[in-house]
Amino acid sequence: HSPGAAPSPSPQHPARIPPRPFPCAACGKSFRYLADLRVHERSHTGERPFPCPTLARGCPP
Ligand SMILES: [Zn+2]
Repeated sequence: HSPGAAPSPSPQHPARIPPRPFPCAACGKSFRYLADLRVHERSHTGERPFPCPTLARGCPP
């Protein structure tokens, strides 16, 4: 063993701006846009990110 040698999981990827700078604090899933994160977060808060597909006909309770 060589103490002090930190593992390099991704040597090909230097420290750059992550393509998805908006990680979900609940599940860790990252999103590229804050708006997408906001929509996703609703899935954790119980709200539905999208209206019921049958909402136009009258979604049953
Ligand atoms: Zn999440």
